[in-house]
Amino acid sequence: MAEHGAIFGAMLQEFDEAARLLKLEPGIWKILTHPKRQIVVSCPIQMDNGEIEVFTGYRVQYNITLGPAKGGIRYHPDVSLDEVTALAAWMTWKCAVAHIPFGGGKGGIICDPTRMSKRELEALTRRYIAEIIDAIGPEKDVPAPDVNTNEQVMAWIMDTYSMHVGHTETAVVTGKPIELGGSLGRREATGRGVMIVTREAAKHLGKELAGSTIAIQGFGNVGSVSADLLAKAGATIVAITDYKGGVYSKAGLDVQKMLEYVAKNKTIDKFPGGEALSNEDLFGLDVDILIPAALENQITVANAKDIRAKIIVEAANGPVTPEANNILHDRGVFVVPDILANSGGVTVSYFEWVQDRYGYFWEEVDVNDRLEKKMHEAFHDVLQTSIKYKCDMRTAAYIVAIARVGTVTKMRGMYA
Ligand code: NAD
Repeated sequence: MAEHGAIFGAMLQEFDEAARLLKLEPGIWKILTHPKRQIVVSCPIQMDNGEIEVFTGYRVQYNITLGPAKGGIRYHPDVSLDEVTALAAWMTWKCAVAHIPFGGGKGGIICDPTRMSKRELEALTRRYIAEIIDAIGPEKDVPAPDVNTNEQVMAWIMDTYSMHVGHTETAVVTGKPIELGGSLGRREATGRGVMIVTREAAKHLGKELAGSTIAIQGFGNVGSVSADLLAKAGATIVAITDYKGGVYSKAGLDVQKMLEYVAKNKTIDKFPGGEALSNEDLFGLDVDILIPAALENQITVANAKDIRAKIIVEAANGPVTPEANNILHDRGVFVVPDILANSGGVTVSYFEWVQDRYGYFWEEVDVNDRLEKKMHEAFHDVLQTSIKYKCDMRTAAYIVAIARVGTVTKMRGMYA
């Protein structure tokens, strides 16, 4: 792109470092740093008060060399073309690291869903999908949930697409309700993947999960499933925080009881099984493993020096700023980067798409076994690459991804 914003710039910085180490050919470098397709649409909707509003929507297919574009759709007032393009690029590298036959895409609509009725959201979703309908489909681009979109939104997308093509097409979108062609195990997939890479990272450093202490930021979908599975694997979860507060227990928190508490109270704040803990104090705890599973930019230059954990697993997207990443690297902290650590979600989305296309649905144990295999392979591919190139795991993950997409780009040749 001739011009780009700060978020895409951050992606490019990480890309360039890996591409240099890989000695990527200049031509392939140019191709992989440009989005293939950026779609901007206007979506007029009649609001409940009778007035017409026009919302701007985006869909970016960053790269489709390995297969259909894959990536979520977010509804948020801060959505921008720069953000959507960067997120689509990150999806390209995440799918390539996970070694699944997908390219990277992302979509978004500038809107505030907290101020919209269900009918307005349905109308907006259907109009947005109608506007981008020629660009999506099981072979072309397969959206998924992201910030402020959920199973219901995916069901509307599937229905709108199906109405346009004249038959039911479940494989156009993933993250659907089970009844509509969703996959068993999808809800837990990202947390399960986090558990697997955490276990492998610990092993690599000569530790077992049993006996390791873990602190987790966030107790939503990813944080709570990670906590539950890591506790079941024998780790001691000593601290968890969420948007409202947190708890600490040296002896270990009872994750099952916390799940019940959150179901009732919507937060873990004031959970009676430990002492109160703030988000700020979480990062400085003397633990073996730290798992940010909430928001981006949580570990910064302000707190990176205080971190005592030997392993950080980025369950959230972008929880460590680039400057903090350098500090952690210099201090010898082993960071499992987001595009590897949270790729369990997109991997099971791929399984959902496969099941929809076959019309044959797997048992949960099969989904979990296949996820285990894929995550194990992805972790060790990245680890071996970091050893080979003497670089950190983040750069190594980019190298794996760029090498895979780059090789296929070259093999396919130039269409001109
Ligand atoms: P979620 O909304 O279910 O949970 C988010 C959690 O973070 C909640 O517990 C919330 O209380 C907490 N939180 C919010 N603001 C906070 C703050 N200021 N301080 C501390 N905690 C705060 O979201 P999720 O699906 O679990 O996603 C979490 C992260 O994982 C995001 O970065 C998301 O992009 C990433 N991710 C999710 C998936 C997935 O499959 N759900 C896949 C890949 C990446």
